[in-house]
Amino acid sequence: MPSVSKLEDVVAGGLCAGCGLCESMAGSNRISMHVAKSGYSRPRFKEPLDETLEKSILAVCPGVNAVGPTPSHRSKMHDIWGPIEALYRSHAADETIRHRAAAGGTLTALGCFLLHSKKVDAIVHVKASAKEPMLTDCQVSYTPDEVIGGSQSRYGPSPALTGLCEVIQSGARIAVIAKPCDITAVRNLMRVDDRASRQILYCLTLFCGGIPTIQTSEKVVSFHGFSPRDLKTFRWRGYGWPGHTYIETADGRSAKMSYEDTWHKPGVPWSNDVQFRCKICPDSIGELADISCPDGWVLEDGKPVYHEAPGLNIAIARTEKGHALLNAAQQAGFIGLTPCDQNELAPMHKGHFNKKLQVPARYIALWFMRQPRLRVRNYRALTLLRLAGLPMVWAEFTGMLSRIQMGRNREKTDS
Ligand SMILES: Cc1cc2nc3c(=O)[nH]c(=O)nc-3n(C[C@H](O)[C@H](O)[C@H](O)COP(=O)(O)OP(=O)(O)OC[C@H]3O[C@@H](n4cnc5c(N)ncnc54)[C@H](O)[C@@H]3O)c2cc1C
Ligand code: SF4
Ligand code: SF4
Repeated sequence: MPSVSKLEDVVAGGLCAGCGLCESMAGSNRISMHVAKSGYSRPRFKEPLDETLEKSILAVCPGVNAVGPTPSHRSKMHDIWGPIEALYRSHAADETIRHRAAAGGTLTALGCFLLHSKKVDAIVHVKASAKEPMLTDCQVSYTPDEVIGGSQSRYGPSPALTGLCEVIQSGARIAVIAKPCDITAVRNLMRVDDRASRQILYCLTLFCGGIPTIQTSEKVVSFHGFSPRDLKTFRWRGYGWPGHTYIETADGRSAKMSYEDTWHKPGVPWSNDVQFRCKICPDSIGELADISCPDGWVLEDGKPVYHEAPGLNIAIARTEKGHALLNAAQQAGFIGLTPCDQNELAPMHKGHFNKKLQVPARYIALWFMRQPRLRVRNYRALTLLRLAGLPMVWAEFTGMLSRIQMGRNREKTDS
C-alpha cells in the first residue's frame, strides 16, 4: 500500500513534485496546476475525482512511487551515479544552440535531432510563459525551432507534464525532456499504460538541484528595482555558460547578474528554498532516463569554477538506447562528444554525490516518525547507507527528525 491514499495527502505531506501529470490525466476541468501560496507548482482540485481515476493517478504520481532502474541495468550500475552505459563531455554542434542553451545545449540538440531524423514526432518539455515570464509552461514542440525556443533552465515552478496525455492520445511518437522527477512520473505511467509505453520512445533529463519558489524569482526581480508586472523576459541562465540571470521589462529596461553572484553571493535577499520533495529526492541525477545531461563544469584545484566559457555538458547514457542516440546524433553532426572519466563526476557534482548518501537516512527518520513518504524501490538504499557511514547517517536522521518536529515536511494546501 502507498503511504498516502489521496492526492490531497501528497501535497499536504510535502511529497508533490509539481510535475502536472495529475492535471494531464484528470483534465484541467478537474485538476489544474497553479502556483500555490507555498510558491510551488501544485494541483488545484476543482471537482471530486472518482475513485478509479484517483487510484490511477496515485499509481503514477512521483510523490507516491519512485521505482529505480531495473535489474537489467545492474551490470553497469555505479553505487552513487546509477546506470552508466557510456559517459562523455558533450555540446551542441550548432554554436547558436550551444550559446543560447543552459549549458552545452546537448538536450536541445538531441531534441532537434530526434525530430529531424523522424525518430519522434513531438518533444514534451517546457518553455518560459509568454504571458508571465517568471512562470514556466509545458511545451510540446513539433519543429526544431520550437525545441530551441524551450532551451535553458527554468528554476522555479515548472509543471512539465500537463500536456503529456493529450500528445499520447494524438498517437504521436514522443521524447520527453524534463527533470528527473518528471521522468519518474513518465516511467511510472509507461509501466501501467500501454499507449504511453509504446509511444514514449526517449526520456532525456538533467541533474537537478531542486525547484525554488516563485518568491525567489520575485525577490530577484525586486532586488533589481523592477516589478513582476513589468517583465518581458526572465531567465536564469543561457546566452553564455553558465550565462547571467537576465531580466528585461516591456519598456526596454534590463538588469543582469552572474550565475556565481546569483547563487553564491552572501547577503542577497533570496536563497535556494527548494520544496520538501527535493530534500528527499531519491533520484535528482536522472537514473531513469535514457540520457542524463548535467553541466560539465570546468574544475580548478578539484573544484568547479563558473567563469563564462563555451558551454559543456556531461552526457551520461543510462541505457543502450541512449548510447545509440548519442552516437547517431554525433554522426549526423548535431552534437560533439569527447571522452570523460567517471571519476570526474564526484568533484564536479559534489552536492549530488553527498545527497545520494544523505537521502536514505532521511527516509528512515520519516518512517520512524510515521510520516508520509514516497515508496522508493531499486535505489540501492542499503549500499548508500553503508557508504555514508554512521556519522553521516546519524546527522541526516537527526536533522530530519528536527525538521519533522518543526512541521517542515508538511505543506498547507490552499485549494
Ligand atoms: C530546476 C533545475 C535544477 C538544476 N540543477 C542542476 C544541478 O544541480 N546540477 C547540474 O549539473 N545541472 C542542473 N540543472 C541542469 C542544467 O541547468 C542544464 O539544464 C542541463 O545541464 C542541460 O543543459 P543543456 O544545455 O543540454 O540544456 P538545454 O539545451 O538548454 O535544454 C534544457 C531542456 O530542459 C528543459 N527544462 C528546462 N527547465 C526545466 C524544468 N524546470 N522542468 C522541466 N524541463 C526543463 C527545457 O525545456 C529544455 O528542453 C538544473 C536544471 C533545472 C531546470
Ligand atoms: S507530483 Fe505530480 S502527479 Fe503527483 S500530485 Fe504533484 S503534480 Fe500531481
Ligand atoms: S530535486 Fe528531485 S523532486 Fe526536486 S525538482 Fe529536482 S528532480 Fe524534482
